[in-house]
Amino acid sequence: MRRVLVLTLFLGATLACVSPKVDPLVANPVPSAQSALERDLWGASNRYDQAIESAELLLRDASLEDYLRGVARHLLTHLGASSDLEIRLRLIRSPFLTAFVLPNGSIYLTSGMLARMNDEAQLAAVLGHELVHFVRRHSLLERLEVERLRKQAIVVFSVLMPPLAMTRELREGASSGDFDRIFAVQLQGYSQALELEADRLGFEASTAAGYAGAAAIEVFEQLKTEDERDPTDDPNAYASHPKLDERIEHYRQLMAKPVDASKGGRRSQTRFLAAARDAVLANVDMDLTIGRVASARGAIDRMLAFDADHPGLQLRLGRWYRLMRREPGALEAAAAAFARAVELDPTLAAAHRELGLVARAQSARALAATSLERYLELEPGAPDAPILRGYLDELATEGGGR
Ligand SMILES: [Zn+2]
Repeated sequence: MRRVLVLTLFLGATLACVSPKVDPLVANPVPSAQSALERDLWGASNRYDQAIESAELLLRDASLEDYLRGVARHLLTHLGASSDLEIRLRLIRSPFLTAFVLPNGSIYLTSGMLARMNDEAQLAAVLGHELVHFVRRHSLLERLEVERLRKQAIVVFSVLMPPLAMTRELREGASSGDFDRIFAVQLQGYSQALELEADRLGFEASTAAGYAGAAAIEVFEQLKTEDERDPTDDPNAYASHPKLDERIEHYRQLMAKPVDASKGGRRSQTRFLAAARDAVLANVDMDLTIGRVASARGAIDRMLAFDADHPGLQLRLGRWYRLMRREPGALEAAAAAFARAVELDPTLAAAHRELGLVARAQSARALAATSLERYLELEPGAPDAPILRGYLDELATEGGGR
């Protein structure tokens, strides 16, 4: 990522002298074909949208998308734009941190970003920033400079993609030169001047919409903290967008100004957590799979504080403890969480399976046997059924269960 950071700084310096005047996008129809340059950007954006879609990288959750769109539309009105300005909000199934908007108004947010947020005010801080890039047509402003990035783009592309399915379409798209123009800017951030403008106007829009101004600082501090706590090498494009420290400092300065940011403000936490829950659970699964234990636990705890009696959350809590099984008491805590999950939802097959495996590891044979049997009743055709039937045979034999 050092290369990307250096490049961003370099661009920041060179772009200071480029400031063509473009009008903001405020109403439909947006002038997507105003110039050859912009047509080119929109065409590439549309192709990018299609490639992401056909690569099945999206986490589809219609009610969550509606919710996100609602928040974004409300913010648009505070950016001087019409609330029905055509935008799309899409979630990428990835535990890593990225949020960006394409020149055509497609806003992408990873499930990892969403899983690290506490409330709607934090979401609004992130969306506000991206919406400014779109409304102010920052991609067009930087288009002339983007050629410089062509050679770097494939490097950037490969940095984002390893955790995701790298399909043939995406690979070909990346090397055809279509994506480089877009990707380079979206992932590395715009020039510093435009990033600062996006921070400032996004902040003003979210506070004008009634959200707590402090949420902007919190969300970026949270992203930073959880990112530092996880040992995995995170291809964290967001960290250089611009660097999170600079960004946090900038929001502090914005907070210090006499805007109405200091007066409490709206959080809408319950609404946010309810809308995001399924996507967050899916993201916790990904975090657990790749061993991002700090991120996984952070998301689980945020959700548990909101709804401790959700069987799916107890299941993930148990899996988290199971992953930490070398820690004292972790296996017992895992068993307790799985037991709570099956108590809350006796039909949750995965929780019976997990409880059975933990009980087996603890040599609690009776519990292991009943739990695995229950799992097999619920999922007779499960791929692991033959193995688990073998375990059951062992458990039935004296001295089994090892
Ligand atoms: Zn930005």
